[in-house]
Amino acid sequence: MGTVPGAGRDVAAHAVARLPGEAAADPSSLRSHNLGIVMRLLRDHGTLSRKDIEHATGMVPASVTNLVADLHDRGLVRDVRGGGSEVRRRGRPRVMVEAVPDRCLALAVRIERTRVTGELHSSAGHLLDSSSRGVTLAWGQPGDVAHAIAELVGRAQQRAAEHGAVLFACIVTMPGPVGSDNRIADTAEFGWGHLGLVDLIHAAGVPAAVRVEVVNDANAAALAEHAALPMPRPAVMLYVEGSAATGVGGGVIADGRILEGGRGYGGELGHVTVDWRGRSCACGANGCLAAYLGPEALLTSARLTDLAQMAGRQAAMDELRARLDRGEKRAVDVALRAGDILGAAMRSVYDVVNPTALVLGGYLAGMRRWLEPGIQMQLAPRTERLAPLAIESGRLGRRAGLVGAARHGLTPMFDDPTLVPAVRRDDAVAEGA
Ligand SMILES: [Zn+2]
Repeated sequence: MGTVPGAGRDVAAHAVARLPGEAAADPSSLRSHNLGIVMRLLRDHGTLSRKDIEHATGMVPASVTNLVADLHDRGLVRDVRGGGSEVRRRGRPRVMVEAVPDRCLALAVRIERTRVTGELHSSAGHLLDSSSRGVTLAWGQPGDVAHAIAELVGRAQQRAAEHGAVLFACIVTMPGPVGSDNRIADTAEFGWGHLGLVDLIHAAGVPAAVRVEVVNDANAAALAEHAALPMPRPAVMLYVEGSAATGVGGGVIADGRILEGGRGYGGELGHVTVDWRGRSCACGANGCLAAYLGPEALLTSARLTDLAQMAGRQAAMDELRARLDRGEKRAVDVALRAGDILGAAMRSVYDVVNPTALVLGGYLAGMRRWLEPGIQMQLAPRTERLAPLAIESGRLGRRAGLVGAARHGLTPMFDDPTLVPAVRRDDAVAEGA
């Protein structure tokens, strides 16, 4: 790869951006920062030459050589002898650099009523292992969830050791708001309120060296869907998903990260007000988007509540989708109106964060054809006068939450690769052999 399209300006801007007086006074943090820039560049653009890295970052050759050597010592990058026409012309192989895909791993965990599932992902986004444990949850009580998660972490650590890898983080996804103190503020699904799940997981035997964090599931899904978009990815992306089980969730991705807000409760697009005197929402407010786009609201309007009671909400949502595909008038009217309401909510958000893309997930992804006209009409006063908003369906489906959780868990490594220890000499020799 000779050039890194779109990367030069962004990365160069990051290379010089630092907090006033902070990084300049601390050379080691500036170095960590620059190591992170190189790692993110390799993650996002694949195999690059040292020259490519110089061009994309604006760093001088000696710095790039030095940073790549440091990453090499930590087992995070490796040299590959490049192919391509340029090589043959010059008659000697060109040495390229690529990220080692499975040096750093993250375990992403999903909790359901009867089981806990853990997926072990590499920093390249590959799924390496998946495992489940049965759990017993009483309403409002965490039951044996923390022990089940500790078991999954133990298994992941074993897998990591086999790969010569570092298990960097365990990220638990959770419907409902999660504070930046990692406390689950409120989970309607399990009746948990202000639960310190992270402490319970460590108490169940997970060592402090494995960072444990809880994230909102829709925020995690948003991050995964953002990373699944082609380059250059939107600077600000909105994500709204509908789940038959947990209702409407959302997330905002800014500069490739979850916009968590001051205390962690940001990005709750499902609770944007669309009618201040409107329907009551499970969150305690009136007129939230979720009260109109949630499964119960849609199924009631579509007269599918009987089916939902008999066959379950998922089956009823599937039937709604089937009726949309058949063009049945009532179903189509319900979806078109939902598009108007979603559009009104997104217009409010547009004015605050000026997104360039909106990605729909869960059952909303399958309804996009019918939602989009209303969304675009409601947004027209902004998009026609200011800048357009691309609307897409999510690409990852139900996988998005865990894929995004793992990516979120590895973010600190891409910010500061010095968190990963150097590979021991004898390991390095064995690896090179
Ligand atoms: Zn609400």
